[in-house]
Amino acid sequence: MLCAAPKMTGRPCRHSAFQAQTCPTRRLPRQMHAFEQDRVMSISEAVLEPAVKAPLVARPELMGTKPSLIGLSREEMAEVLTARGVPERQVKMRVSQLWHWLYVRGVSDFDAMTNVAKDMRQMLKTHFTISRPEVVEEQVSNDGTRKWLLRFPARGAGRPVEVETVYIPEEGRGTLCISSQVGCSLTCSFCHTGTQRLVRNLTAEEILAQLLLARDRLGDFPDREAPQGAMIPSSERKVTNIVMMGMGEPLYNFEAVKTALLIASDGDGLSLSKRRITLSTSGVVPEIYRTGEEIGVMLAISLHAVRDELRDMLVPINKKYPLKELIEACRAYPGLSNARRITFEYVMLKDVNDSLEDAKELVKLLKGVPAKINLIPFNPWPGTNYQCSDWATIEKFADFINQAGYASPIRTPRGRDILAACGQLKSESERMRKTERLAFEAMMIAGHGEDD
Ligand code: SAH
Ligand code: SF4
Repeated sequence: MLCAAPKMTGRPCRHSAFQAQTCPTRRLPRQMHAFEQDRVMSISEAVLEPAVKAPLVARPELMGTKPSLIGLSREEMAEVLTARGVPERQVKMRVSQLWHWLYVRGVSDFDAMTNVAKDMRQMLKTHFTISRPEVVEEQVSNDGTRKWLLRFPARGAGRPVEVETVYIPEEGRGTLCISSQVGCSLTCSFCHTGTQRLVRNLTAEEILAQLLLARDRLGDFPDREAPQGAMIPSSERKVTNIVMMGMGEPLYNFEAVKTALLIASDGDGLSLSKRRITLSTSGVVPEIYRTGEEIGVMLAISLHAVRDELRDMLVPINKKYPLKELIEACRAYPGLSNARRITFEYVMLKDVNDSLEDAKELVKLLKGVPAKINLIPFNPWPGTNYQCSDWATIEKFADFINQAGYASPIRTPRGRDILAACGQLKSESERMRKTERLAFEAMMIAGHGEDD
C-alpha cells in the first residue's frame, strides 16, 4: 500500500519527531492559551524522562465470564431482568436503580448497590457481571497524558484482544480517545492501523468499558478520589469530552457505537453532552446520515485530500463514496451552525497534499459547510514511505486557511513518552527501536467538541 506520490524517499521523518524541541521555524500553534504553552514546553522533557507505570490492581472477577449489564439499552436491561424472574411491576424501577448505580455512581460490584434487596443482588451476581476489563498496563506521561492497555475477553471462537484508551487533560477539559474496533478493515495508506487486518468489532459494553475504566482510574465518580499528583483539569469532571478516534472505523461498527454513545450521553446516567462527543469517520456516507439522525454527536471527517484521485489513494473508501457525496452528507448533517461545526482532519504529508494549491481547493471544497480544519502533523511509523510536511509548509498552509476564515489549530503531540498515539497499535510500537519510538509522535486528540 504505497503512495505513488513523488519524492518518496522511504526515510523516516526526523523533522516532525523533534520539532517540539529543535525546529527553528516552529511557533506555538495558534489559539493556545498560557496553560497549553507551559504544557508544550514540558513535552521536550517528557521525551527524556521515562513514563511512570502505575501498579495494577488485581480484580476478583473479570469481564466476559457472564453476560454484562453494561452496554444494554434500558429496554434490553428490562428484558434480561424479566427473563430472570423480576416481576413485571418492578422491572422499570429496577432498571432505574441499576442505571443509577452503573452510570452515575460507577460501581463495578453488585454489593455496593445498597438500596437493592439482598436476594435481588444475589440473583444479579449469579447471572450477570458488571466488572471492568483487565488493565494490562497503565502509563502516565509527565505531561499528564494517560494510556491504558485493556484486555477484552474472547468472543466466540476468537482470542482475547487488547485495546488502548488514551486520556488527555487540558485546563478546562479532559478528553478520552476511545476505540471502536480491534484493527480496521479499511486501508488508508498513511495509517498504521490500516496495515493490520480487522480482528473484530468491539461490543457496546467494551466501548463503554473504556469510559468507565478511565473514570474509575481518574476518581471521576462521586465519592472517589483522583490518584495522588494526577494532572487533571480544573473542571468538576475529569472526563469532559470523548472522541471516537482510537482504533477502527466507528461507522463500520454502527450499532454498537450508537448504543454506547446513547448510553454515554443519557441524561440520567453518564450525562456527557452530545456536543462533547466527537465521532471521527473516514467517510462512510450512508452511516453519516444515520449518525446525524440516530446519534446526533459531533462529526469529524478524515478528509486528507481535496481531489478524488489523491483521496482514492490515501483514503481508499473514497472510491466507494467520493468527495462530492461525502461533502453532500456533511452539508446535510443536522444541527450545524457556527457554534456546531464539522471538524475536517487533514494529515500533512510532505509533497503529497501540502501545497498552497491544496489549501486553496480545500477552502473551495468546504465553502458553505460550517467547518473547523484540524491540520495533523503526520506521525511516521516503521515501514511507511510518507514523511511529515516541513513545519514551515504546515504554517503556510495554516495561514492560508486562517485567512480564509477557518480556525485551523495544528494538532501538537502529547504523551510522547508513552506513545499515546491514536490509530496506532501498541504491539507494533513495541517492536520499534528506541530511536524509532522517539520518532513515533503522539497525536493531539484534544480540542474536540465544545468547551464550557
Ligand atoms: N477510522 C476513523 C477514526 C480513527 S483514526 C477515521 O479514520 O477517522 C483518527 C485520526 O487519525 C484520523 O483522522 C486518521 O486519519 C488519523 N491518522 C491515522 N494515522 C495517522 C498518522 N500516522 N499520522 C497522523 N494522523 C493519522
Ligand atoms: Fe481505519 Fe481510520 Fe486508519 Fe483509515 S485512518 S485505516 S479508517 S483507522
